[in-house]
Amino acid sequence: MKTLARCAMLLLTSAIVVSAQDNPDWHASFPGFKIAGNLYYVGTADLAVYLIRTPQGNIVINSDFPEDVPTVRKSIEQLGFKYSDTRILLISHAHGDHDGGIGVMKKDTGARLMVMDGDVPEVQSTAQGRPGAHVDRVLHDGDRVELSGSTLTAHLTPGHTKGCTTWTMRVDEGGRMLNAVIIGSPNVNPGYVLVGNKAYPTIASDYEKTFTVLKSLPVDLFLGAHGAYFGLKAKYEALKAGGSANPFIDPSGYAAYVAEREGAFRKEWERQKK
Ligand SMILES: [Zn+2]
Repeated sequence: MKTLARCAMLLLTSAIVVSAQDNPDWHASFPGFKIAGNLYYVGTADLAVYLIRTPQGNIVINSDFPEDVPTVRKSIEQLGFKYSDTRILLISHAHGDHDGGIGVMKKDTGARLMVMDGDVPEVQSTAQGRPGAHVDRVLHDGDRVELSGSTLTAHLTPGHTKGCTTWTMRVDEGGRMLNAVIIGSPNVNPGYVLVGNKAYPTIASDYEKTFTVLKSLPVDLFLGAHGAYFGLKAKYEALKAGGSANPFIDPSGYAAYVAEREGAFRKEWERQKK
């Protein structure tokens, strides 16, 4: 009886673990590579991490889960960069798949952590799965993050989280200036309450604001918090194969993705209103 109960417990525990890690790409390593100019990809096969290289050290966007930090570090080092040269840490939004390891990275590198106001309580929280990391600079919509000639702009794109951030920057690709957009998240997760949400009353109008912002941004390089948003794997293969055009330059793919995600949001909102 005791053994049976323990077995049931074990099964239950492993089921929870599996459901929390249901996408194998989340933790699978992926080759670090140059996207364009001084912008590099150093994330896993789906959880995107970006590195912006400057003469005075690097900016890193996202950490992935704590267990993915060694994989990210390896990608940084395989590109010939120093993990310890990380000066500024940023996030897409305060969910564990993007910020879970941010406290570890901050401790490892001594970098300054900068987070959008609405996500600061979540990043500083020590609750289970939260990084409990001290935020050194609180960002507001439109704020700029600068390091040695590279400038990133923080666009508040809320809804998915209260401080969900879409990062933009201008990348110099051999004299051609490219607008990079790193989408924070336009997704309405299963279980999200869009109507009568007491903890987040403005959630639906925040999503509407997000789609207005995303549709207004000039875009060449289409990027985001998950590789799946922008077709990381296929575009990486195309980049490796060579050719005249950089496959990450994809304004029409960006527009189609944002339109599809807005449609999904509006459909879910209508469903919940009924
Ligand atoms: Zn998320």
